[in-house]
Amino acid sequence: MENRLTIVGAGLAGSEAAWQAAQRGVDVVLYEMRPQTSTPAHKTGLCAELVCSNSLGNQLEGAAPFLLKEELQKFSSLIIASGHKASVPAGAALAVDRDIFSKEITRVLEEHPRVKIVREELKEIPGEGPVIIATGPLTSPALADSISSLIGENYLYFYDAISPIIDAASIDYEKAFFASRYDKGDADYLNCPLSKEQYENFIRELKAAEKVPFQSFEKPVYFEGCMPIEELAERGDKTLAFGPMKPVGLNHPETGERFYAVVQLRKENREGTAFNMVGFQTKLKYPEQKRIFSMIPGLENAEFFRLGAIHRNTFINAPSLLGRELSLKTHPHLYFAGQMIGVEGYVESCALGLLASMSATRRLQGEVFIPPPPETALGALYHFVTDKKKTNYQPMNINFGLFPALQERVRDKKTRNLKITERARVALRDWMDKIS
Ligand SMILES: Cc1cc2nc3c(=O)[nH]c(=O)nc-3n(C[C@H](O)[C@H](O)[C@H](O)COP(=O)(O)OP(=O)(O)OC[C@H]3O[C@@H](n4cnc5c(N)ncnc54)[C@H](O)[C@@H]3O)c2cc1C
Repeated sequence: MENRLTIVGAGLAGSEAAWQAAQRGVDVVLYEMRPQTSTPAHKTGLCAELVCSNSLGNQLEGAAPFLLKEELQKFSSLIIASGHKASVPAGAALAVDRDIFSKEITRVLEEHPRVKIVREELKEIPGEGPVIIATGPLTSPALADSISSLIGENYLYFYDAISPIIDAASIDYEKAFFASRYDKGDADYLNCPLSKEQYENFIRELKAAEKVPFQSFEKPVYFEGCMPIEELAERGDKTLAFGPMKPVGLNHPETGERFYAVVQLRKENREGTAFNMVGFQTKLKYPEQKRIFSMIPGLENAEFFRLGAIHRNTFINAPSLLGRELSLKTHPHLYFAGQMIGVEGYVESCALGLLASMSATRRLQGEVFIPPPPETALGALYHFVTDKKKTNYQPMNINFGLFPALQERVRDKKTRNLKITERARVALRDWMDKIS
């Protein structure tokens, strides 16, 4: 096999993938359509342009985004190194001067003797491999069509709202109770009950809350079943009580008490360390979400792994389409990386760029790809995108809810997260020894 890797898209994932492969001795051809053809969100022709915030996430030890960055740094990540070079003071976050950041990445890739950047929109998936498709959430329409005809209905493309995910340890179980509607099946849902007065207060605050405005290119086309709660509240004060907050069949299992409304929480992972707010898609501003959701009994001190959001998501149903090498099961030479496969965020996309590149490189070099263990941040993301048992696949940021639960029960969140971090460091060292 020729020692050559084609990468489509020089965003966060594609730039990292190109760098990693080139550093491992592979010749890389990196296609990027900007500046000739742009996306609705990008503004420059630079590699790894940050389209929105300039933050690469939390920088505090004991936070999942910190751990992910630490792991990427162990692999000499170009994105993370450039982030540190371009950093600006931002408290607990690693924020960057976006111009310096992207210029540095562009410079390094342009000067790399093994990387050739081709400024061209690829409209069709290349037939010969290996190829990494890393064209992101705003993949050009022509290429999106080409991908779509290859994978059919598994190509997910819509403006969608996502609902918040809560740290299970922060819920008040004196108020919230486990029950299934009409006692059907197991009591898998955790229910937060509201009285009439609590519900009315909640609706009043929800209607008055600040929402994130749409970008000019974002058309608010929702699926009816995925309406933001604030849109539903605008239709009538009781709409939510007849919709996602419907209380029927959810009386208290011990007292038999009936409620005016109920917010249901569903386990987000097998371990039950995280809960999803069922039907609570929202476009409220983040501080407003925290303020208003803390009005729900049981969630007064809720900590969020992910807050609700709405934006355009173009991604593939990775768990059903990709094999363990992060390439299509039907076309093993075609790897996918970045937000296209359902991770959310700059650093997460970079992480999947690293893994897809590592996998493709090992194949070129005649070696087997060994996936990262789930106890690491890289492994938690890898297992998220390849977990065949996942239903209703939705993009996700790195968070401790994706990691396997600790053997022991640790009540204090900070201590628990530090233990997960320590466990991850040991697992990463073992994995690095295996793949070196
Ligand atoms: C509007 C918006 C706001 C966001 N805000 C944030 C935020 O604040 N923080 C955060 O962490 N994440 C944010 N995200 C998510 C973030 O953009 C992605 O997580 C991240 O940039 C994805 O990285 P990527 O490499 O997968 O895609 P991108 O970084 O988008 O890179 C894809 C690249 O592929 C190129 N491309 C597309 N089609 C073709 C083609 N046919 N041929 C050649 N090149 C092509 C594009 O020009 C682009 O350079 C936002 C996303 C959107 C859409």
